[in-house]
Amino acid sequence: MLFTRQTFLVAGLSRSGISASEYLAEHGAKVYLYDDVDDANVRAAIERLSKLGCIPVRKDELAERSERCDILVLSPGIPVDHPLPVSFKRAGKRIVGEAELGALALKCPVVAVTGTNGKTTTVTMLESIFKTAGKNAVACGNVGKPITSCLKELGEDGIAVAEISSFQLETLYSLRPHVAVVLNVTEDHLNRHYNMENYTYLKSRILKNSSESEFAVLNYDDPVVRTFDEKTKATTVWFSMREKVEGAYLADGAFWFFGERILSADEFPLDGDHNRANALAAIAAAKLMGAGNASIAAALKTFRGVKHRLEKVSELNGIVFIDDSKATNVDSTIKAIGSVKGESVLLVGGKDKGYTYEALFDAIKQSNVVHTVIYGENAFRILGAALKQGYTNLTLCRPFDLAVRVAYLTARRGQNVLLSPASASFDAFTSYEERGNRFAELVGIFAREYGREEHGAAIPAIGGEREEAE
Ligand code: ADP
Repeated sequence: MLFTRQTFLVAGLSRSGISASEYLAEHGAKVYLYDDVDDANVRAAIERLSKLGCIPVRKDELAERSERCDILVLSPGIPVDHPLPVSFKRAGKRIVGEAELGALALKCPVVAVTGTNGKTTTVTMLESIFKTAGKNAVACGNVGKPITSCLKELGEDGIAVAEISSFQLETLYSLRPHVAVVLNVTEDHLNRHYNMENYTYLKSRILKNSSESEFAVLNYDDPVVRTFDEKTKATTVWFSMREKVEGAYLADGAFWFFGERILSADEFPLDGDHNRANALAAIAAAKLMGAGNASIAAALKTFRGVKHRLEKVSELNGIVFIDDSKATNVDSTIKAIGSVKGESVLLVGGKDKGYTYEALFDAIKQSNVVHTVIYGENAFRILGAALKQGYTNLTLCRPFDLAVRVAYLTARRGQNVLLSPASASFDAFTSYEERGNRFAELVGIFAREYGREEHGAAIPAIGGEREEAE
């Protein structure tokens, strides 16, 4: 594609903005760059992209430069009702995301995966299945590898396994996946999308370009996703943990696809029905792309999960530490407490995304959670929901480090400390990865401070150097 006659403004210079700028500059476009943030990462990106001919724009120049641009490339992190996209819209100009540029340029078949939870797990599983089958598959999109950055790698013969978020769907119009997977739709990002109707509509947009020759792999067990069958021309193939549907299902302790036995459920190593549901979705998508049963079974048997998703990070004095830092909404935490084996002390809290937490405490009351430590910016909001639901088995401790310490000291030998926050990390961290890494790091600190002794035998006073530093 050549863009020699067009001028773009790329707004937001994180991973996808950088990749979009590189792609556009390589293809002859005039590219202006803008970011509100002025930190080392943004400065490094501007320096690198300037060498490709891209032109940085200061805040005071933005209005005037915007007028010269034909198309706005909007980072998924910037809402479409931000004044900058609104000004482009008013001027009748196009607003696209990096994923849209990727969708227009891709020459290979696409398997696209969306849903509130399980996208990264499922695209990673699919990539592994296709690679086992000898295909050049690349997990891309929201998973951390922009689509425009892997166009050459994919060529015409690859398979793009694209993770697509609701933020990306706001500015994605041309994607026409051979297989589109919708895993689930539960409450998330309502601070950005305002209400469930809007959020659900955005998720359904992944299917809007499909015709009968394309497939929609839909979760039969999810009442919202089930309705997508009526909204698409694509041929629906279901997956279900509960019923023998037309598609992939769990029955008699095994995973099946249209009556063909793929593998025994015991051979799939991840805990939790939600992960078994992800596996069923992956089986359906892989079969529709022509993968053989042996490759699917081999890849699923050896799938180890993805970092920061119910990841057992270490064990100290008989207490297992589980990092589920990527659980940034209520449903993912409910799934976590239902899947982890044995009793747990749960850590929840962080940056609020507009949730109600009552359902979480209903689930906690019926689970193996023996105590909940609430931390972070939304601690009092969560506390309110807990008390409303009559749950008082908790400690409120706002700083993260101290909360993890309290959770450790509360847990007994044989129990878990489960970090599954039901909240974003941005109150105290730059990402969920940083939060998860800090959790693992703290276990190392506790090992040095408390030693590997009988738990509780050598407990120093709470509030060591680290907490004072916070
Ligand atoms: P996403 O990419 O959609 O955010 P991930 O695979 O990264 O999904 O998982 C995010 C969180 O959701 C993790 O805590 C994980 O354990 C949980 N999770 C994974 N699959 C599902 C599912 N199908 N339903 C609910 N929660 C899930």
